[in-house]
Amino acid sequence: LVLVNTCSIREKAELTIRKRLTEFRKAKESKKGMLVGVLGCMAERLKGKLMEEEKLVDLVVGPDAYRSLPLLIEEASSGQKAVNVLLSRDETYADIAPIRLDSNGVSAFVSIMRGCNNMCSFCVVPFTRGRERSRDAKSVIAESQDLFNKGYKEITLLGQNVDSYYWIDEQSNKATTFAALLQQIALISPSLRVRFSTSHPKDITDEVLYTIAKYENICNYIHLPIQSGNNRVLQLMNRTYTREWYMAKINRIREIIPDCGISTDIITGFCTETEEDHQETIEIMQSSKYDYAYMYFYSERPGTLAERRYEDDVPEEIKKRRLTEIVDTQYQLSLQSNRNDVGKTFKVLVDGESKKDNNYWKGRTDQNKVAVFPKENFEIKMGDY
Ligand code: SAH
Ligand code: SF4
Repeated sequence: LVLVNTCSIREKAELTIRKRLTEFRKAKESKKGMLVGVLGCMAERLKGKLMEEEKLVDLVVGPDAYRSLPLLIEEASSGQKAVNVLLSRDETYADIAPIRLDSNGVSAFVSIMRGCNNMCSFCVVPFTRGRERSRDAKSVIAESQDLFNKGYKEITLLGQNVDSYYWIDEQSNKATTFAALLQQIALISPSLRVRFSTSHPKDITDEVLYTIAKYENICNYIHLPIQSGNNRVLQLMNRTYTREWYMAKINRIREIIPDCGISTDIITGFCTETEEDHQETIEIMQSSKYDYAYMYFYSERPGTLAERRYEDDVPEEIKKRRLTEIVDTQYQLSLQSNRNDVGKTFKVLVDGESKKDNNYWKGRTDQNKVAVFPKENFEIKMGDY
């Protein structure tokens, strides 16, 4: 049984999966009874059509249908095609603790919500993951406590839009906001680092910023995707903020958490983007002084608002050239950010050996920068600071 977990965010992710499936086709020809299942966003997006397009696929299982896997596998074993792509309004998998097979035993991700209600016009997530729902705070805290008891030292709380986390406890009627949840995880132990991703610029509150500032173990690092620096493009993207609003948030972060690391996501070549619009993105990168950025060229996704309403009219070579310029700009900004750190001392959580030289440890600073240092200078082990 081979289960392929998939991503649909950009076309390239899906093409990678298609290629992987052709490898399994060969294996399947020589192994009688072998089953292949496609899980996750690509299953949700393509549904039964995936089986018509990829004949070797026996199971198609959407992101909310994992609980039905045993039944679906049984069905597929008896020769039927098994599909479950129902999206749920309340499934958060709160009571299912993941097995962390590829873990370093030091850092772990903990999911605090599923889905997204934001409807950015370029994005397929609301269609593949469904409505936003928050996970029971008690279950998030219990999982984090359990990880700490097992020796984990760093927890990253995950959601598409963590700042809109909201949970009301049925018994006490008490509400938990994201800031309150952050605080409760931080209180598990001062030696447990807490991180989170992703924040939407429209939703991140002062309360969250003050909570980060108050607790030494909540890392001074915020990932705040901007996508574009031009107001007209931002509006077409349905991001619901302007560049002025965004800059005000950046200034607020720097005011409340002066040494905060900040990173972002950027899309180049979105529908109708001009050279001037693109320059405005470069300008806002320079004003924001990002430490790091994840950068992509626009990939049209079927079914999204942008696909239905706007023409994907920026030619691929222009998208890619703009991407190169964005990447070069970020290279300079990262270099500057690293130069500013020369001569400073950082607290680093050791999470492995350097990939290039096993005489060196590697780990991250509070601001999420990777640091590498010689083992011989320190008597420490994995998971130490
Ligand atoms: N929920 C997060 C982002 C999730 S997707 C947020 O709103 O910030 C991660 C990133 O992928 C996005 O921030 C965006 O930069 C990129 N992305 C999403 N859809 C894309 C598309 N159609 N083409 C190119 N990049 C895309
Ligand atoms: Fe997609 Fe926007 Fe939701 Fe992020 S906030 S997952 S970009 S729709």
